[in-house]
Amino acid sequence: RVKNGSKGAAAFFDGSMEREALARMKIEQSLRLAILEKRFCCAFQPKVNIRTQEVTGVEALVRLRDDEGLIQAPSTFINLATELGLIDELTHLVLAEIVKSIDLINETFGPDTTISMNVAAKQAGNPEFMRPFAQAIEATGFPKRFMIEVTEDAFVTKTHFQDEILPIFRNLGVRISIDDFGIGYSSLSALADITADEIKIDRSFITDIHKRPRSQGILRAIESLSEALGMTVIAEGLESFEELAYLQAATKIRYAQGYYFSRPIFLEDLKLATPRASEARASLVSRPAPETRAAYSRSGGYR
Ligand code: C2E
Ligand code: MG
Ligand code: MG
Ligand code: MG
Repeated sequence: RVKNGSKGAAAFFDGSMEREALARMKIEQSLRLAILEKRFCCAFQPKVNIRTQEVTGVEALVRLRDDEGLIQAPSTFINLATELGLIDELTHLVLAEIVKSIDLINETFGPDTTISMNVAAKQAGNPEFMRPFAQAIEATGFPKRFMIEVTEDAFVTKTHFQDEILPIFRNLGVRISIDDFGIGYSSLSALADITADEIKIDRSFITDIHKRPRSQGILRAIESLSEALGMTVIAEGLESFEELAYLQAATKIRYAQGYYFSRPIFLEDLKLATPRASEARASLVSRPAPETRAAYSRSGGYR
């Protein structure tokens, strides 16, 4: 048992650092192995038109199958993959997964839905990655279906992204989305210099939006600015009927994504669970129960 005092504390500290370093090495090793063995898959989460309930797009969200067969979320490996220079390879694996799944995507979500991919800000500013990546998207034969989600940092830090790389994607008909908008470093006025097709309002503004006047104000500002600039607005992380009802009643926002409609799903699971794709598709977008809707209108709505 270590006694109080600096010597004991130091010994304890060293021990924990050693454990941390070991744990990190283990993750690093399994990440490299996972890439070699292509042990990545994608979960797909729909983007929904909240005025018509139609699915207009899907976002591919990468998952890792670790050595024990467990599914790991990107928070456990994306930053490390970026640090280790493995993220480019990983992104190409995601693209390959989309190509492999295109029939299932079409059956499940519809043949005209956009397909969004996430690209790290660091990648977005690097022509050495983005040029071949654009070529790979073109080679799929359906480049116009693609949308690239990048965080606002990619737009504000001085890289080749805006001037050199964006036009290449635009020429292919690939659309650009600003992910997690509102929590990065750009100011609202920086938006004026950004050319993107979609703005995704970060989940932190959407959570309990119906109860938070400050978030409502921010939402209104983003809304009018993006309207002026011709960008589509989508709310991310929509979880509750109350949040949805607020967006529908008090804003002009047309699109949302979130657990309320659907969690990210594995398309093969869907196929196993329901024999008919049309049934699966119908069950994707959960509509509010009639009693909740009635309760909402009785409350007199928001605003
Ligand atoms: P993101 O692009 O902002 O994706 C949204 C994240 O929020 C996803 O987490 C999604 O599962 C989660 N989410 C969706 N709806 C809700 C909701 O209603 N409530 C809550 N609490 N969460 C919701 P996920 O799949 O763990 O991905 C986390 C992040 O990892 C993504 O954030 C994205 O930045 C990154 N990522 C995912 N796939 C890739 C990829 O292929 N490449 C790169 N570079 N990054 C990726
Ligand atoms: Mg995203
Ligand atoms: Mg977010
Ligand atoms: Mg996001």
